[in-house]
Amino acid sequence: MMVQQAPAPPPGPVVVADVGQYRRQVQRDARHELVDLAAFVPGLHLDIRYATANNLTGKVIYPEAAAFLRRPVAEDLRRAERELNQLGYGLKIYDAYRPYTATRRLYEALPDQTYAAPPTRGSRHNRGCAVDVGLVDLKTGRDVALPTDFDAMTPAAHSDYQQLPAAAIRHRALLHRVLARHGFVNYPAEWWHFDHRGWEQFPLLDLPFAALRP
Ligand SMILES: [Zn+2]
Repeated sequence: MMVQQAPAPPPGPVVVADVGQYRRQVQRDARHELVDLAAFVPGLHLDIRYATANNLTGKVIYPEAAAFLRRPVAEDLRRAERELNQLGYGLKIYDAYRPYTATRRLYEALPDQTYAAPPTRGSRHNRGCAVDVGLVDLKTGRDVALPTDFDAMTPAAHSDYQQLPAAAIRHRALLHRVLARHGFVNYPAEWWHFDHRGWEQFPLLDLPFAALRP
């Protein structure tokens, strides 16, 4: 009887999972550093949903409510925050850098490529180059009207959806305009998701937040 050999699984993406390798990369090129947004952008509002069960999977995806981005991405986000502050608004961060393991966990909970990046290519969040954001009113500290809640899987989440209250359209347009001016490109299926230009230069990472602190 012939024994059929199972085909080898396709090679996975290159993922940096060694903190020493990450630190050497940062020493060679400071742009690779993942910057802690809570310290880097004073006053920034954080609502890190994947550190809670309050997200579309209903599960805790990573254990700590922290937000990190690569240095040039964090710098552009800080510029966008300052510009919004002048207009009476502030950014609210739902998710920033996400370890590759968390993307695998998300995809297992929700295998839909429109809303969750497949592990075969990883997410730009895994590169520290994508951010999910909303807007708050600085006077009240409360969320402003936007098309949907973060991570809503509905047509209303699409960035060109128009059947919305005027205030939601106005705030979405403001968010998109200011972020675009600072190098961020919106993902059309999710009004809240932005990739930073140049994301291709940064590898996928699988390091826990704790490993990123000096
Ligand atoms: Zn996102």
